Amino acid sequence: MKENFYYSQNSLGIFKRCPKMFEYIYIDGISGKGIDPELKKNIERGTNFHILAERYFNGMKDFFYIKDDQLLEWMAVLEEKYSEDIDCRSEFEIRQDKDEIRLMAKYDLVVIENDKIKIVDFKTNKNPYNLKVMEDNIQTKVYMYLLGENLKKFFPKMKIEDISMEYFQLNYPENEIFIKYNEKKHEKNKKILGKIIDEIKNNNKNFFIKNNETCEKCGFESFCQK
Ligand code: SF4
Repeated sequence: MKENFYYSQNSLGIFKRCPKMFEYIYIDGISGKGIDPELKKNIERGTNFHILAERYFNGMKDFFYIKDDQLLEWMAVLEEKYSEDIDCRSEFEIRQDKDEIRLMAKYDLVVIENDKIKIVDFKTNKNPYNLKVMEDNIQTKVYMYLLGENLKKFFPKMKIEDISMEYFQLNYPENEIFIKYNEKKHEKNKKILGKIIDEIKNNNKNFFIKNNETCEKCGFESFCQK
């Protein structure tokens, strides 16, 4: 792993899913073979949606050339919920290296509204999310902690309690997943994230194989079988 590696919700999520997978991707620098073609297609479509959304919030509502009906449908859902001229930051990036926590995140959208700040993450998942599950999700912890920790730098008038996060599911806009934040959660997240990062640092390349249902579609099965 490079000296200047910044942990992210992706890499920490992969470590939680399977430490061995983390090793393959982030230490050995290899990518999995045989990723499910359907999954690959969905990932590409999701990426294209994020590009269109960023352009939309930057005043470039120019998706007339898009032929993909699903993408157009998602853009219509997005427009319905958020107008293009809201006070926001799109694809907003924060990096920090302090208290042994070297972390980065790129937020889909940060909305400033009524003296509050809301992180919005777009999800193009096929199944609806559950609030409890998402509250405990590593992405929620990373995103809220990192914004909370760097709040004064970017939004000096805001307090930790002013932060919230919404998972905006383009296929289920009515299924609202809205999470509030506070100092207590912030301290807890700091401990949790610090502990995971410590665990990775102290593993010394002895990452264990976590055989579970994720093996089936992970793309590294042949490496692990060896
Ligand atoms: S095949 Fe299983 S054990 Fe191996 S990296 Fe993938 S999830 Fe981990």
